[in-house]
Amino acid sequence: MGADCLFCKIINRELPADIVFEDDELVAFNDISPQAPTHMLIIPKKHIATVNDLTDAEIDLPGKLILRAKAIASEKGIAETGYRLIMNCNEQGGQTVFHVHLHLLGGRQLTHLG
Ligand code: AMP
Ligand code: ZN
Repeated sequence: MGADCLFCKIINRELPADIVFEDDELVAFNDISPQAPTHMLIIPKKHIATVNDLTDAEIDLPGKLILRAKAIASEKGIAETGYRLIMNCNEQGGQTVFHVHLHLLGGRQLTHLG
């Protein structure tokens, strides 16, 4: 667990969250400040601070995050209308929580990036 990591605390149930999926490796929960009708975060249980910290040992992780997002999008009924997957990295990438996470956004027309 990362020291004082918000998302590790959610994984460990030390902080409440609206968890919609969990398995041995991943957790998915609703974003506390949704930017779209569907806005969920899919995270690894392993604490990895940023995309910069991914190594060959995590070669499968991005694919697992994306495939879980795909499954949730389908469950939410937004697979065909469309959705956006985002991973922010460090300050200029807009990262505010330093535990790797994949945003799943959908349910409305999304516009500009950046
Ligand atoms: P990022 O800016 O890419 O690091 O995204 C962090 C996301 O975490 C933001 O969209 C926040 O709204 C969300 N967030 C922060 N705290 C919580 C929390 N306690 N529960 C759920 N989502 C959170
Ligand atoms: Zn963490």
